Amino acid sequence: MARKFFVGGNWKCNGTSEEVKKIVSTLNDSQVPSSDVVEVVVSPPFVFLPLVKSTLRPDFHVAAQNCWVKKGGAFTGEVSAEMLVNLDIPWVILGHSERRSLLNESNEFVGDKVAYALSQGLKVIACVGETLEQREAGSTVEVVATQTKAIAARVSNWADVVLAYEPVWAIGTGKVATPAQAQEVHYELRKWLQENTSPEVAATTRIIYGGSVNGANCKELAAKPDVDGFLVGGASLKPEFNDIIKSAE
Ligand code: PEP
Repeated sequence: MARKFFVGGNWKCNGTSEEVKKIVSTLNDSQVPSSDVVEVVVSPPFVFLPLVKSTLRPDFHVAAQNCWVKKGGAFTGEVSAEMLVNLDIPWVILGHSERRSLLNESNEFVGDKVAYALSQGLKVIACVGETLEQREAGSTVEVVATQTKAIAARVSNWADVVLAYEPVWAIGTGKVATPAQAQEVHYELRKWLQENTSPEVAATTRIIYGGSVNGANCKELAAKPDVDGFLVGGASLKPEFNDIIKSAE
């Protein structure tokens, strides 16, 4: 089964309501391949989710950038998976490296979050990736496999999971992985899925790349056989996000 190209835009902790309206208006005016060819999901901060959801073109979808690890309740400052479902938000990004490093989210905690979000009916963009130190030590594949294992240990249904390979050294740095580097890790991740989940999961799960993707480098990355799309940070706030979506063709 062919894997539909997936482009996610992670707006992180950016934007005012005026800026958000402008970004949505640019997205709504953009000429992009049809939703049969590419799945586009943008992820504004929580507070702008209702605004974006109600004004965004219907062929694009929205994602939250996080959600709580279990049922909501006395967890000040958190947003539960149930709340996202209640607002009809279909997707959530979990395990982003900024949360892993700045908020100390462990592999197990991320795995628990992925499992709970899926159990509530959300679709998940689950992020993995190595630091520069880990890459230089030659442990990239081991690191991303360990991160993926913590998810796989808790998840049996991968149909609603997109795996995002995001090398930490490439996020927000302008240092994009080369197409060969991205392909190598995506290949290894797919092999890991093949050996540890099932051949079907390995063949159908989208593995997307994130880390300084822009309008100029996306085409070459997208041409790699195991790169099924992108998770885009900085460039998703700019009109060039359009060009990245078009790299699906
Ligand atoms: C991200 O934060 O998911 C990301 C890939 O950021 P950037 O594109 O800015 O490197």
